[in-house]
Amino acid sequence: MTRRRRIYEGKAKVLFEGPEPGTLVQYFKDDATAFNNQKKGVITGKGVLNNRISEYLMSRLSEIGVPTHFMRRLNMREQLVREVEIIPIEVVVRNVAAGSLSRRFGIPEGTPLPRSIIEYYYKSDELGDPMVSEEHITAFGWAAPQDLDDMVALSLRVNDYLSGLFLGIGLKLVDFKLEFGRLWENEEMRIVLADEISPDNCRLWDVKTNEKLDKDRFRQDLGRVEEAYQEVARRLGILPEGGPSDVKGPKTLQ
Ligand code: UDP
Repeated sequence: MTRRRRIYEGKAKVLFEGPEPGTLVQYFKDDATAFNNQKKGVITGKGVLNNRISEYLMSRLSEIGVPTHFMRRLNMREQLVREVEIIPIEVVVRNVAAGSLSRRFGIPEGTPLPRSIIEYYYKSDELGDPMVSEEHITAFGWAAPQDLDDMVALSLRVNDYLSGLFLGIGLKLVDFKLEFGRLWENEEMRIVLADEISPDNCRLWDVKTNEKLDKDRFRQDLGRVEEAYQEVARRLGILPEGGPSDVKGPKTLQ
């Protein structure tokens, strides 16, 4: 880790300078935060699992034509990604009421939404990621109207594809958060999916029991947090059957 220049350290990941210009190495930590940094903890093995889960999901999305920053996984905790200019907007897609939507509107958790709902949050730790509208985004120049159109179209495709993928393994995709970046190739700019897709930023419930298999286990102190991340990986077929010790050995995820 000391070999490379550290570009940025976030809550769950570190970005290092990549081996070639225009690339970055994304390192996945075990650190977890919730409620705008007020709750902090460590979920043992999370970084390894999220690296693997995000690799898998980004690769599947790329196969259906969704452009992403993901290039390849390098090792247990690192992946090579394209350097993009991150758009400071979190796009949340919701299929079922949960979390802040349930709190804000008093809709009981688990209520199916009449249609998928998209929300935007401005990425700012100081401000606590306030919810914003399209008007704010375009007026303040965080994204151009065309960028936003692309982000919405991609988010809906990701939602349709991932909802089906997760349903196939007995998981309900309740909601999730995406981030996008601008990728410059020659004179052309494309909006691509960035960051990660993992149980850190998706709500995933077991279809039959509604058991939560995501970061809400950490947020709400439900216990068996590591096991939940591992169960998602296992169902995706990217972890051999086995107990928690499976994530600790370097051979497990090869
Ligand atoms: N989310 C995220 N990062 C954030 C806020 C939300 O990844 O900074 C994800 C969260 O995991 C969930 C979805 O976005 O899958 C919707 O989150 P919500 O607004 O309900 O947030 P809460 O306040 O409940 O964490």
